[in-house]
Amino acid sequence: MFKFVTFVRSVPRSQFELLKTTTSTNATQKYSFSKTANCLSVNTAIKSSSELPKKCDVLIIGGGGFGSSSAYWLKKKAGNDLNVVVIEKDCTYTKASTPLSVGGLRQQFSFPENIQMSLYGAEFFEIVKDHLGDCELNFKPNGYLILASDSGATNLLSNAKTQKELGAQNVVLTPEKLKEIFPWINTEGVALGCYGLEKEGWFDPWALLMGFKNTAREHGANYVDGEVVEFGFEAKPEGQQMKKAVVKLTNGEKQSIDFEKCVIAAGACSGDVGKLAGLGNGEGLLSFALPVEPRKRFVYVFDCQGENAPGLKTPLTIDPNGTYFRRDGEGGNYLCGRSPECTCEPSVDDLEVDFSFFEEEIWPTLAHRVKAFESIKIRSSWAGFYEYNTFDENGIIGRHPYYQNLYIATGFSGHGIQQTPAVGRAISELILDGRFTTIDLTRLGFDRIVNNKPMPEVHIF
Ligand SMILES: Cc1cc2nc3c(=O)[nH]c(=O)nc-3n(C[C@H](O)[C@H](O)[C@H](O)COP(=O)(O)OP(=O)(O)OC[C@H]3O[C@@H](n4cnc5c(N)ncnc54)[C@H](O)[C@@H]3O)c2cc1C
Repeated sequence: MFKFVTFVRSVPRSQFELLKTTTSTNATQKYSFSKTANCLSVNTAIKSSSELPKKCDVLIIGGGGFGSSSAYWLKKKAGNDLNVVVIEKDCTYTKASTPLSVGGLRQQFSFPENIQMSLYGAEFFEIVKDHLGDCELNFKPNGYLILASDSGATNLLSNAKTQKELGAQNVVLTPEKLKEIFPWINTEGVALGCYGLEKEGWFDPWALLMGFKNTAREHGANYVDGEVVEFGFEAKPEGQQMKKAVVKLTNGEKQSIDFEKCVIAAGACSGDVGKLAGLGNGEGLLSFALPVEPRKRFVYVFDCQGENAPGLKTPLTIDPNGTYFRRDGEGGNYLCGRSPECTCEPSVDDLEVDFSFFEEEIWPTLAHRVKAFESIKIRSSWAGFYEYNTFDENGIIGRHPYYQNLYIATGFSGHGIQQTPAVGRAISELILDGRFTTIDLTRLGFDRIVNNKPMPEVHIF
C-alpha cells in the first residue's frame, strides 16, 4: 500500500517607424526615428520607479519574463535612441508566472517554431553572462525523458525526428533500453521514451527574470510600479489607433502616458489587458478577443531517500499521462505536477494548493512509475498561473492586425520561460526592423485567431 504523509504546506517561493541607420555585429545597433516620426528626446529615463513619464516610444505592459526580455533586447539594440517604459503592477512578482515556474528547458516539442525558440534559449543560456552580466542560472543539464504509451508512440517518433532535423539531439529508447539506462523506472504501459541528450534541463527562473530586468534597467529601460487600467485612442486614416495608457500608481493616483508602440506582455492577465484595448468588444478585426486567461497549476515537492531512489542525474521525466517529476537540488528532494483535465480546472481566485489532487491523481502515477516513490513525504508546494491560450495552447506573438502599434507576447501556456530570450528578441525585431529577422514566428501571430487556424503544440504538460 502507498503511504502518503503531508509534511509541510509551505507558501510559494516566492510602435512611428524606426529606421536602422548603421549596423554592427555585436555592439548596440543604432536606430533613428523616421522623418515623419514624432521624435522623442533621448535619455528621458527617470530614476524613481513610482514616477510615470508623460510619453515614451515603447510601453511594455508587464515586467515578467516576456516584458523584461523585450525591454532588454529593445534597449540593447536601440540604446538611447529608444525610450522604453515597462509598467509592472506587482514588483514583488507574488502571482507572476515567471518565478512560480519550474524552469524547464527542452527541445522536445512538436511545433517547429517551439523547437527553434528553445534551441535559441539554450544558446542564450550558454552565454548568459555575455548578455545579462552576473546572472547565475544554475542550469542543470539533466535532459528531459518523455514517455509514450502505444497510442502516443507514433507522435513521439515523428516529433523526435522533427527535433533532430532542426538541430536538437535526442535518442528514442525501447522499454528495455529505458530500464538499462534508468534502472529505477517501471516501463509498464510505456512503448517508447525520448531522451534529450543535450541542451535540456532546468534553471532558476527568478535569476533569469532578475537578469533581464536589471540589465534592461542598466541599458536605460524605465520600470514603473503601477497597473494599466485603461487605454486612450486617436483617429487615424487607417482607423482608430492606440495612443495612451492610464496607469494606476501605487499611491492610488491615476496618470496617463502617451506611447508610440505598446507591447502586451501581461502574462495570465493579458486577456484582461486586451479587453481594455477593446479586443473582443468591437467589429471586424476587433471582434476577436485575446484568448489568454489564468489556469492554476500545482507543484509539489517531496522527499525520497535511499538507494532505489532515482539518482542525481535523473532527467525531468514525463509519464504518458502528463505527470512529471524531477530532482530539486541534491538533498533527496523532487518536484512534480500535472495539468488537470480541462473539465476539472481549479478555481483561479487564489493560489491555494489542492493536496487531494496530489493524493488522488499524481501520487498513484509516481508510485506506479518509480517503486521508491511509493512512500514519500510532501515537503512543500506552491501554485502558479499558466498564461493559458484557450485557442490552441501555443504562444501568441506579433503585431495586432488592426492596431498597427500594438504588439503581443503572451499565451505560452506553460512553456514560456525558456522561450523568453527568443520572444524578447523577436519583439525587438518587429518593433525595430518591422519583421522577424532571426526565427520566423509569423505562424504564431494573432492572424491565426482571426483566420481560425489553430497551431497546436502536442507536447504541452
Ligand atoms: C507551475 C508552472 C510551471 C511552469 N513550468 C515551466 C517550465 O518548466 N518551462 C517553461 O518554459 N515555462 C514554464 N512555465 C510557464 C512560464 O512560467 C510562463 O510561460 C512565463 O513565465 C510567462 O511569462 P510572462 O512574462 O508572460 O508572465 P508573468 O511572469 O506572469 O509576467 C506578467 C507580468 O504582468 C504584470 N501585469 C499583469 N497585468 C498588468 C497590468 N494591467 N498592468 C501592469 N502589469 C501587469 C503581472 O504582475 C506580471 O508580473 C510554468 C508556469 C507555471 C505556473
